[in-house]
Amino acid sequence: MSENKGKVCISCGRLSTEYVEFKCPSCMQGAIIRDRICRERHTRYRCPNCGTEGP
Ligand SMILES: [Zn+2]
Ligand SMILES: [Zn+2]
Repeated sequence: MSENKGKVCISCGRLSTEYVEFKCPSCMQGAIIRDRICRERHTRYRCPNCGTEGP
């Protein structure tokens, strides 16, 4: 019973199975999760750990 439901994009809040996850380049701790759409559109994100915003 393990369904891959993906993760929530922190830019738009949509649940996506096509996402990229990386550590915040500023604090190296916050997990940045962005779906494919936001990555292609370069939607701004905000680090949940330190609040840094980036493209
Ligand atoms: Zn998104
Ligand atoms: Zn950060």
